[in-house]
Amino acid sequence: MENVALKMRQCLPAELITFLHVAGEKAGARGQKLYLVGGAVRDLLLRRPIVDLDLVLEGDAPSLARQLARRGSISEEKGKGEGKVTVHRQFGTAKFRRGRLNIDVVTARSETYSQPGALPTVQPGTIKDDLLRRDFSINAMAIDLSPASFGQLLDPHSGWSDLEQKRNVRILYERSFIDDATRILRAIRYEKRLGLTLEQNTERLLREHISMLDTISGDRIRHELELILKEDIPEQILERAEVLGVLQQLHPSVRGNGWLAERFREARQKATADPALYLLLLVYHLSEDEIERFIGRLTIVGELERNMRQMPRIKRSLPSLANNALPPSEIYRLLKRYYPKTIAACSLASDSPIIRSNLERYLDHIRYVKPLTDGEDLKRLGVKPGPHMGRMLKTLREARLDGQVITKENEEALVRQLMGNH
Ligand code: ATP
Ligand code: MG
Repeated sequence: MENVALKMRQCLPAELITFLHVAGEKAGARGQKLYLVGGAVRDLLLRRPIVDLDLVLEGDAPSLARQLARRGSISEEKGKGEGKVTVHRQFGTAKFRRGRLNIDVVTARSETYSQPGALPTVQPGTIKDDLLRRDFSINAMAIDLSPASFGQLLDPHSGWSDLEQKRNVRILYERSFIDDATRILRAIRYEKRLGLTLEQNTERLLREHISMLDTISGDRIRHELELILKEDIPEQILERAEVLGVLQQLHPSVRGNGWLAERFREARQKATADPALYLLLLVYHLSEDEIERFIGRLTIVGELERNMRQMPRIKRSLPSLANNALPPSEIYRLLKRYYPKTIAACSLASDSPIIRSNLERYLDHIRYVKPLTDGEDLKRLGVKPGPHMGRMLKTLREARLDGQVITKENEEALVRQLMGNH
């Protein structure tokens, strides 16, 4: 079997190698074996940067995690938030941070699914069992961290060959997508991220079991969709999801076509990638009812839910904004009740340069304009608090937006004039 210790030394920071050695030794001192598994092994073999560490112990993971996270267990000083271990006793898992790395330590286990989409029943098992429960061969490799066999690659499902030669995303057993249909979304995410393709039988089963997505809760679907939207080029994944019928299964009217791809690209050019903005673009063409259904299916809550709900209403205001002679106060009036993110999504979605420019003017400038005069000033000038004062401030803002007042004296003159009229 292959030993990848040399590759580890070439690709990983020395400090991390030391940590892995120490971790393997501490497990060994307990008579247990520790392995590096999953994404870190895959990314190491691809010489890609490693973001998280998943460790599997044939033994009690929480107890080892506490020992590893303890201050002084390894020579270096620790940063903020380090040393704290989050334990899930019933799953035999523990998490802690080390520098920028999130480290998960889990007890090796086997899984059985009582019904499609349910969380699995787990039993302690061997590393082999633990690799068998995983999603794809490329994620089902392990590196032995035991002192005597440090760096030995365990690859019972030929993940390395899938990764390097066949360039396959391949499931490990026929019922995989039935047991856990989030793997459908994960499969296309890895395909595009790593430039792989679905292995033939995997693609056939994925297509066959697409309706199993209905067994997955809204929270889990949303989580997977967010992971897709955090990838470098999410539009490729959504396009693929449409071709395979995955998007339609989540919501019949959602499309991942060329229109969307162009908008996503432009969104990234203008600002840093934002999953919430992408989601707003994804539902842009949906009707009010369809948006409700999308929100319900993905159990979207909070700010994003409010942003989405506004979409049909703001779209009705857009025709009024197709006018390049609109005074700024009018643009303000049309847009003030909408969230900036919803407006930003509409601007990206719009084909009209005039509408776009009005939306951008609002976002960049108009929404920040306020009169120099405030409530206290108005009181001093003899205006009584109440709705009248509110209206006065609104008039002042409009006058400022449209350039009718420049200085504070101008504003006060306008206030006196309005009081005279009153
Ligand atoms: P990423 O770089 O996207 O984080 P990863 O491989 O680290 O990739 P995680 O979601 O962090 O993926 O999960 C860690 C490991 O857990 C995976 O490599 C895989 O072995 C396993 N895993 C995750 N989700 C599933 C799933 N739904 N079914 C089976 N195994 C899974
Ligand atoms: Mg990971």
